[in-house]
Amino acid sequence: MIFTDDTEEALRSAVWLANSAEQPDTLTDIDDEGTFLHEFPYTGRLDRDEAEVASLRGLRPRLRAMLLAPRDEMAAHVNDALAESRLTPALRRHDGVDWHLHAVADEQPLAERILIETAMALIDVIRADEGSRLTVCEDDTCRAIALDLSRNRSKRYCSTTCANRNAVAAYRARRAES
Ligand SMILES: [Zn+2]
Ligand SMILES: [Zn+2]
Repeated sequence: MIFTDDTEEALRSAVWLANSAEQPDTLTDIDDEGTFLHEFPYTGRLDRDEAEVASLRGLRPRLRAMLLAPRDEMAAHVNDALAESRLTPALRRHDGVDWHLHAVADEQPLAERILIETAMALIDVIRADEGSRLTVCEDDTCRAIALDLSRNRSKRYCSTTCANRNAVAAYRARRAES
């Protein structure tokens, strides 16, 4: 584990959302939001309506910009996000998840809570100077974000699909050479 569980979960969730904007778009309706919430079981207010889907979709470019920003720019993104929200930080323990920080009230809109959770997670990234764990996928045809939370920094692709495609291509290239 590179960061705490809640930080890593917040980063995974933000990367999932940002990457859902890549083609084909995987966050277009309430069913898609259901898929997201199944993978990342947020508690607190969940409207599960068109407006909530639209606000999550609207958040994606900003998440991408934050996650991929160089360190000082990332800090500016974090400060902007924190300044926009009414923060009421409190430790919570619920649904089998050990003590972790809720920075905004559970009644705040989901998109706002995700923005702030992402900002809080990026505080850890910035303080540990681990921004290099967030990169654009190394596949030539893919611009999704790759999140590397491995000890040995071995993850360069956004997904196993991209990793496998490139492993196969590299294998073919080697075989063609010999
Ligand atoms: Zn919680
Ligand atoms: Zn990729």
